[in-house]
Amino acid sequence: MLSAHKPQANIGEAHITLERGGFMLMSEQNGVFVLDTNKKPLKPCHPGMARKLLDEGKAAVYKQHPFTIILKREVKDADTGKHRIKIDPGSKYSGLVITDEKNQAIWACEIEHRGDRIKEGMRKRWAARRNRRSRKTRYRPTRFDNRRPKGWQPSLESRMSDITTWVRRLIKLCPITDISYELSQFDTHKMQKPEIRGIEYQHGTLHGYTVRQYLLEKFEYQCAYCGKENVPLEVEHIVPKSRGGSDRVTNLTISCVGCNEDKNTQTAEEFGYPEVHDQAKETLKDAGVLNSIRWEIYDRLQSFGLPVEVGTGARTKYNRSQLEYPKKHWIDAACVGESGKDIILDSEMQILHIKSTGHGRRQMCLMDKHGFPRTKPKQYKKVKGFQTGDIVRAVVTKGKKIGTYCGRVAVRKSGSFNIKTKEGTVQGISHRYCKLLQRADGYMYAV
Ligand SMILES: [Zn+2]
Repeated sequence: MLSAHKPQANIGEAHITLERGGFMLMSEQNGVFVLDTNKKPLKPCHPGMARKLLDEGKAAVYKQHPFTIILKREVKDADTGKHRIKIDPGSKYSGLVITDEKNQAIWACEIEHRGDRIKEGMRKRWAARRNRRSRKTRYRPTRFDNRRPKGWQPSLESRMSDITTWVRRLIKLCPITDISYELSQFDTHKMQKPEIRGIEYQHGTLHGYTVRQYLLEKFEYQCAYCGKENVPLEVEHIVPKSRGGSDRVTNLTISCVGCNEDKNTQTAEEFGYPEVHDQAKETLKDAGVLNSIRWEIYDRLQSFGLPVEVGTGARTKYNRSQLEYPKKHWIDAACVGESGKDIILDSEMQILHIKSTGHGRRQMCLMDKHGFPRTKPKQYKKVKGFQTGDIVRAVVTKGKKIGTYCGRVAVRKSGSFNIKTKEGTVQGISHRYCKLLQRADGYMYAV
């Protein structure tokens, strides 16, 4: 029988190589958050250390996800160090990483947003209501002045609150002192400023890299002259330097090796492509759903009262390629900004996968395809003290399903629940065997 404070299976066999109070980069696992008995966040520790504290009875499990332990004593004037939370926002996934003062990534997660699911759900609701209005089946009043007065689209709002929710939660578990955030793809303002002269456009420097990426985006990864794709592309001067052309981005384009040689000391107009001059003067507009909410997230992050470092996507990419880390959402987060240029991380680290699930729905009955109710109105959200999304441990002592199951529960009114474990879903577990480990909090977890 497991004792109450024994950690779950998500703490594996970690290498125990500890400096006192420090964190060694030996793990393939996320760090463990540590609170003192007054819930004051302390330096996160290594999983091995956490296991030791738990075994010795000096701490208890406070939270399953993210794994947090609470010490049984008060820790006064502890050195909590400097910890930075780094964020790479994305439209489907966002990466969040915590680094320590040695600039090591000690904890990471990837959040799967549910913006697309919200959008789809609202589209379905709209269709069902419209149907019922026109077909005199069940009563549905004419739509009148029921638009959302202001604010963000629900699908965008949910993406933004996923990020701020997790920053807020992590600040409670870890002594965070700084925030890094990827604000835009390119610093277009800086790139267009006329006073920047003689920029190095060669590949290799951050600025050169940024300019090249910018031009590639702008000219859609094809030669500005012949339109060839998937060939080596070079940064090219529209008005050649030998004829007084500048190094400003408005005088640069992207061309294949052949066109670059053929053009030689001609201008683009002389070469037969006058439109390239105008194309080069246009600025690249950051497209995509994400861009509209980037600044809003930035404003909300500032309300935490911590210094916020911002970086561009181009810089993130540059840092990651310089350090030769693979492309993953959480690694991008670690490479954000100035602080990402010498980040230390184990790219094989097991991180926490978080999926946004929301907190249930308002809809009372499910409908069939004709808009008629298919189920009885929803009665209670909670059954026998449990609700869908709670994380439970069930120790089944008799019957066909003897064993211990740990995972997310889906409740049914009968009191016979389904539990989604790492190995798969176990059906028909009585509520009597279930013990609550963590309340549903709008997210689903997988390690
Ligand atoms: Zn070409």
